[in-house]
Amino acid sequence: MKTRILPGATIGVLGSGQLGRMFAISARRMGYRVHTYSPDRDSPTGQIADVEIDAPYEDLDRVRQFASAVDVVTFEFENVPAPTAEAAASCTLVRPAGEVLHTSQHRLREKTFLSRHGFPVTRFEAIREEADLCRAVPDFGPAILKTAGFGYDGKGQYRVSTLADARSAWDAMGRQEAVLEAVVDFEAELSVVGVRGANGECMFFAPSCNHHVAGILDVSFAPAPFGPGVEKEAIAITRGILEQLNVTGVLCVEFFMTREGRLLVNELAPRPHNSGHLTIDACITSQFEQQLRSVCGLPLGSTQMLRPAAMANLLGDVWNGGEPRWEAAMALPEVKLHLYGKSEARAGRKMGHLTATADTASEAEGLVRRARSHLMR
Ligand code: AMP
Repeated sequence: MKTRILPGATIGVLGSGQLGRMFAISARRMGYRVHTYSPDRDSPTGQIADVEIDAPYEDLDRVRQFASAVDVVTFEFENVPAPTAEAAASCTLVRPAGEVLHTSQHRLREKTFLSRHGFPVTRFEAIREEADLCRAVPDFGPAILKTAGFGYDGKGQYRVSTLADARSAWDAMGRQEAVLEAVVDFEAELSVVGVRGANGECMFFAPSCNHHVAGILDVSFAPAPFGPGVEKEAIAITRGILEQLNVTGVLCVEFFMTREGRLLVNELAPRPHNSGHLTIDACITSQFEQQLRSVCGLPLGSTQMLRPAAMANLLGDVWNGGEPRWEAAMALPEVKLHLYGKSEARAGRKMGHLTATADTASEAEGLVRRARSHLMR
């Protein structure tokens, strides 16, 4: 198998959402071909890719056929089942390796991995049977019960403070394996997107400060205003995780910063992240180009920020009053529109984002919020 994959080669992407789309745009710009595999048709990635295969992840013959036709396989979606990643790896190079997915697609495995290796995490307890709930809930106080598997964007999460709450939340989840997590009274949320090349070289983007609404990322801006101490620590933790997990590719670490200024790891994403979308318009190399460079075994690009920036997500709700007034946002010359090619604007669905650049991150944040409000009729 080739370890350095040069322009003209073909990259396979498992998953077909907006992350794959922005990756495919980067890859095609640099002369690569892209094949995408997911159960969907006319997908955000498929619209950009050379080849779109719509088949179930469980169809391992199709997965092997897909993998045999490409030079390397990567992911844009970490909930790809482990046997799918293994089937791909039996035919071609898979980056990052399937074990990275295995750890990060399951909250309990992820938190256990992090705490075992000394990374700071929120206090948590595994919930596998009712006795675990009865023991942990009175001890925790306000807590969040989260499904162990297949959770993202705050899905499968319930705030609980009494045993009765916790029992009904666990019933609502179908009594599946879960994690009980202490509620963190955080000062801020931030994230670091890091990348590790095939030779072990690591690079990091400036930490972003993130605001969530109803568990979904709403606005990010960078550089985050927490000073060099926090930035250095967040990057050191991200480096440690990239190395410990032996990632070849991009990994995002989401953090809580407590009121005492302590960093706690909330979650890992072994792929480009929503909080890193602003790197497309603000940095010398975007997170998607870094993903391409790392999975192809090429030297990494500079992560330097050319200008402070902010990103605002456009959820389906923006369409509530009819087609958004695109021209009103674009009348602001430092605002950029990114749409993902999704035809159905459902509430809560990520349809696109806006990025604004300005002299400071907080001006960029104000600008991107204003631009988004101009879209609404
Ligand atoms: P997650 O899907 O676990 O990243 O959760 C989505 C969002 O819910 C986070 O970005 C936080 O805003 C909030 N959240 C999740 N877990 C906690 C926690 N333990 N304490 C406080 N807020 C949380």
